[in-house]
Amino acid sequence: MIRRGSRTGTRLFAVYSLASLAPVFVLGVVLVRGYQSQGLERGRDQGRAQAAVIEEMAIAPALSGADLSMGLSSAVRERLQSATDLAIFKGSVSQLKLLSLTGTVLFSDDGSVLGAASVTDPAFQAAAAGRTDVRIVQDAPNSADAIRVLQPVVAAADGQATGVLEVYLPYDAIAAKVQADTTRTVTRIVLALLGLYAVLALISWWTTRSLRRQAADHEHQALHDPLTGLPNRKLFRRAAETALARGRRGAPGALVLIDLDHFKEVNDTLGHQAGDELLRIVGQRLTESLRTDDTVARLGGDEFGLVLPLGGGRDETVALLIRVRAELAAEVVLGGVPLSVEASFGVCFYPSDGDTFEALLQHADSAMYQGKHGSTGVVVYDPATPHQATHSLVMQGALRGALERDELVLYYQPKVELETGRVGCVEALVRWQHPERGLMLPSEFLPVAERSELIEPLTSWVLRRALADHAAWTAAGHDWTVAVNVSTRNLGSLTFADTVEAILREAGARPERLHLEVTETALAFDTGMAGQVVGALAAQGIAMSIDDFGIGYTSLSQMRTLNVSEVKIDRTFVSGLPGNEQDRVIVRSVINLGHSLGCQVTAEGVESQDVADWLLDAGCDHAQGYLWSMPLPWAEVARSFGSASGAVLPAAATTGAPTPTGFESERATR
Ligand code: C2E
Ligand code: MG
Ligand code: MG
Repeated sequence: MIRRGSRTGTRLFAVYSLASLAPVFVLGVVLVRGYQSQGLERGRDQGRAQAAVIEEMAIAPALSGADLSMGLSSAVRERLQSATDLAIFKGSVSQLKLLSLTGTVLFSDDGSVLGAASVTDPAFQAAAAGRTDVRIVQDAPNSADAIRVLQPVVAAADGQATGVLEVYLPYDAIAAKVQADTTRTVTRIVLALLGLYAVLALISWWTTRSLRRQAADHEHQALHDPLTGLPNRKLFRRAAETALARGRRGAPGALVLIDLDHFKEVNDTLGHQAGDELLRIVGQRLTESLRTDDTVARLGGDEFGLVLPLGGGRDETVALLIRVRAELAAEVVLGGVPLSVEASFGVCFYPSDGDTFEALLQHADSAMYQGKHGSTGVVVYDPATPHQATHSLVMQGALRGALERDELVLYYQPKVELETGRVGCVEALVRWQHPERGLMLPSEFLPVAERSELIEPLTSWVLRRALADHAAWTAAGHDWTVAVNVSTRNLGSLTFADTVEAILREAGARPERLHLEVTETALAFDTGMAGQVVGALAAQGIAMSIDDFGIGYTSLSQMRTLNVSEVKIDRTFVSGLPGNEQDRVIVRSVINLGHSLGCQVTAEGVESQDVADWLLDAGCDHAQGYLWSMPLPWAEVARSFGSASGAVLPAAATTGAPTPTGFESERATR
């Protein structure tokens, strides 16, 4: 890849050099041409000046005002002869003739009247009109190249031309000087231009080199995982596809997926930094324990991928992986806690187990999935074992498609006021109406969305749909507010608060009608951003809840600063009520803590009337659970709970023993 980049760079440099050579060459030609024409101009100027001097210093005084139309007296002729002899003798003038305005040759240095300018010559006419005409001629008499000047003769004080002086001046000396000057100057120009070209070439070489480096850096970044420095899923795919192509030509190999067991717990209990450190160590250990022509990639989250060309046979590869897995399990100390890294390996062989990258990935994934549930950590794909496509890459693509095709649906679970049995709020819980797998629960696809950027469009979709449904049930006369669950990843940036504000505005809903639930774990290891986002959302008037309270690690000081109005006790504490003494103590404490902080307290997962009674007695405000209803489409919630006017639970309002409802539709999916 880098070699391809450097070839492109060399080509770019060659093109750049040639392209910059062309203007340099054109500039050189223009400068030389300009200088040559300047040389000729200089020759003409010199001729003009010389002729003017001859006319003024020699001819005019010798004429001393004689009328040229009358011819010349012999005295004037003699004066002219003696005035011009020296110049002719010295060779500074090649030939000289004095003509009347009618074209008659009045005087000629050699006495000849032949070869004089004719009256029809435009140069003669210009001189007769008082303008000097200078040109370089090649066929001058007595000389190869000469400057021919036709100069008006002004012999009287009125300034009028009375005749025309035709002078031929030798051009050879001037030409030689001009040539020498031109050669010198052209040499300088060429050298300067070569210097300029060299500088341009140097700049272009330097620029292409840094562009090449930048491109290589970008390519590296695009293809590698920044945390571990290992190839990312894109490069893994490339490596696997190349290996597969080689496999088809007779060089088989193995594709392996590795998933760390209990990584989430490490992240949740020891923090993200420890989690990152663990991933780095795993990457390093895998690279160290494999061969140089094996590919080790991080595919995202706690998932790694290997492409192994078959050095020995299949058995050797499996033996190698068992050894790698054992090396991975060597103790590591994170945040002072000694840990052993357990991992599940799913192996499939190419090309026999699949003809495409996707097929291999799915097969390795299903083998890994079996590994997670079995006792052996390295499982080889067996086509005879039924499998499910669970791989995050496959799921991600499918989920993206599901969002586009609008396959997600919202179910709602009512939140019941324990004192009155009244439903004040319903919680939106997302499901995926999968065309083949039926109604899928969030646990089957949310982790995939949460590990990728898909969680953002998914949360926006849920918010929009929940607010649209809220508008529909409000129009039908139900005054329930709506609660939406928010992922940890949503709280990573303040733009989320703006997104929610925009969606509320778009839906025309008031912020007080929306509750957002944030899991306690999302806040536990927060370094500040999640707290800020919660604060920004609460500032808009949205009620914020801490979901699944009790299983995370929020500190009391965090609780004090967080801007939340509801605490939802996790169902693991509720399920033990009322019999379990410890759960009773914990739930009572949470209720007191919540109330002391000015929050409403809701218990999750209430499945029996005993629990509901105990909670009411303990001072809990609200509850949710199968006792009242499983999550249902809102129209079913509306049908089961209360009339449009009062929205009061029919059974609870009268007897305190509400009617369980909705079990059939969801239980089938669990
Ligand atoms: P959650 O917000 O704590 O929701 C309560 C979960 O407990 C729901 O599971 C609900 O069906 C289940 N549940 C309610 N009452 C009972 C009960 O009496 N007994 C038992 N055993 N379970 C009960 P569900 O719908 O599978 O959702 C699981 C989790 O997925 C939710 O926990 C929430 O954290 C997450 N989730 C659901 N929808 C969304 C969503 O749209 N966005 C995000 N970010 N998370 C969501
Ligand atoms: Mg919730
Ligand atoms: Mg919960």
